[in-house]
Amino acid sequence: MKGECLCGEVAFTIEGELPHLYQCHCSLCRKATGAAANAATFVPGEQFQWRSGQENVRSYQRESGYRSDFCATCGSPVPNQLRGSDWMWVPAGLLEGETDARVAVHLHVASAATWEQETNHCQRIQGSPESLQALHALLQ
Ligand SMILES: [Zn+2]
Ligand SMILES: [Zn+2]
Repeated sequence: MKGECLCGEVAFTIEGELPHLYQCHCSLCRKATGAAANAATFVPGEQFQWRSGQENVRSYQRESGYRSDFCATCGSPVPNQLRGSDWMWVPAGLLEGETDARVAVHLHVASAATWEQETNHCQRIQGSPESLQALHALLQ
């Protein structure tokens, strides 16, 4: 399975079967992604290979140790090696192609954003509305 960031500079390959995924709804993961939750998994180091762009990876670490690695060009979160381990953390949104992996676990749901709600309570549209005005109307 291949993966790459938004601009394509940072690219990697995962050999073998992809484990299932988790989403973390904690306040730090919300800030790091700009979304309700991240979606990620871990793979053993020997299953992970950088294809390009490792020199383009920047790292930010909070005092607590929470770390976010990202592409210097496009800002996408990118894989990083977990402290003191041989495991690679892999953001699921970067993966390309089909997989049997599914989101299996939601973490920190007690601190989820108040605006988050179950997808089946939301309008679901196959594509995008025909204009920004049309989208704005749906949000009223
Ligand atoms: Zn990039
Ligand atoms: Zn988190």
